Amino acid sequence: MTDSSEVVVIGGGAAGCAAALYLAESGIRTTVVERQGVASYASGYSAGGLNPLQGAGIPGPLAPMAWESFRMHLELWQRLEEASGVDFHARRIGSVDVAFDEDEFARFEETRPLFEAADGFSAQWVDAPELLRAEPRLAGDALGGLRLFGNAALDSSLFTQALRRAAESLGATVRHAGVTALQARGGSVEGVVLDDGRIACDTVVVATGPWSADAERWLGVPIPVVPLKGEILRLRPPGGPLAHDWAGAGVSLNDRAGGLAWVGATEQSKGWDVRPSEWARQKLSAGAARLMPSFAGAELVLHTACLRPVTPDWLPILGRVPGWDNAYLATGAGKKGILLAPAMGRAVADLVAGRTPSLDLSPFAPERFA
Ligand SMILES: Cc1cc2nc3c(=O)[nH]c(=O)nc-3n(C[C@H](O)[C@H](O)[C@H](O)COP(=O)(O)OP(=O)(O)OC[C@H]3O[C@@H](n4cnc5c(N)ncnc54)[C@H](O)[C@@H]3O)c2cc1C
Repeated sequence: MTDSSEVVVIGGGAAGCAAALYLAESGIRTTVVERQGVASYASGYSAGGLNPLQGAGIPGPLAPMAWESFRMHLELWQRLEEASGVDFHARRIGSVDVAFDEDEFARFEETRPLFEAADGFSAQWVDAPELLRAEPRLAGDALGGLRLFGNAALDSSLFTQALRRAAESLGATVRHAGVTALQARGGSVEGVVLDDGRIACDTVVVATGPWSADAERWLGVPIPVVPLKGEILRLRPPGGPLAHDWAGAGVSLNDRAGGLAWVGATEQSKGWDVRPSEWARQKLSAGAARLMPSFAGAELVLHTACLRPVTPDWLPILGRVPGWDNAYLATGAGKKGILLAPAMGRAVADLVAGRTPSLDLSPFAPERFA
């Protein structure tokens, strides 16, 4: 069977679904091809934290995109919830970074000015007695902490589904199939080959996350994206939900939907292994119990593992593929793919539609690995 679509987006994670939404909003007939299920990998199981002020490349070359995407999230949420009918539990959040030794205070000194300088963000030192008054479950030997406000959080699985549904409401379609090859003439893609058919198209966007290097053999250019495994425990907090997020003892303890506390996250290069491991369960449980001792007895509700798409310089790969007229990459967002999805999606839609993206995309150019 051969279908046709102006654009085929390969991959139904946050990057692909955001691209589909902005393409559909541009009036471009778009098909997302997803082989497993929308949001079935990292986009469905991330921690859903949106921090535009810190991370690899921030401050640095990723900062303008991180900040722009954060602003886009805030503007997008209401519109997206209305268009999709999906409540993805998006909100601005507070958190406390807890110190157990003096060195950690020095590290927090790097965080504090970032939050103090940014509009809508704040940072404040809190001493140990005040912390313990606010959260009696906290370990008694905590020295104090840095209370932060301004980041955001959402359920990334529901957010990705909302992007998909909003795109569908504008005419995009989602096809459940795997792409096995591209059909091309010269440097021009003419279609995608599926495991159950073909779709003729004018343009292709590769948004296949950790699997993006598979497209090297289709496009003949280096796409150095590798998987970085990450595991999270979802615990039922003894004594009731947390008032906000916490970080310390090598873990973050996040207040999430349903009153659960999510403990994250590990980072391991383990190839394509997505099995939840005993090593991670012990490491994350121990970190949570160090931060709040009563968590040693917390009920484990769910243990997830998935793969971040990581590049050698920790920056996304975003732009037209060198040597090709109509093939684009929107991938490699690493540990920030939920935060970056709106900016990446809109930028690739702008390129496809022939508009000049508002962001300077040169740090993310696919050519840098040529
Ligand atoms: C433990 C953990 C915690 C995280 N926490 C955060 C966080 O707090 N904040 C944040 O911003 N980010 C976070 N991330 C990172 C974020 O989840 C990822 O960067 C993001 O989800 C990547 O989205 P993606 O669409 O590029 O890839 P994916 O979500 O992996 O989607 C790629 C899709 O492509 C499909 N696919 C692949 N090959 C083919 C093919 N040939 N044909 C058809 N379909 C194909 C796959 O089935 C998959 O569904 C976290 C990640 C992990 C693992």
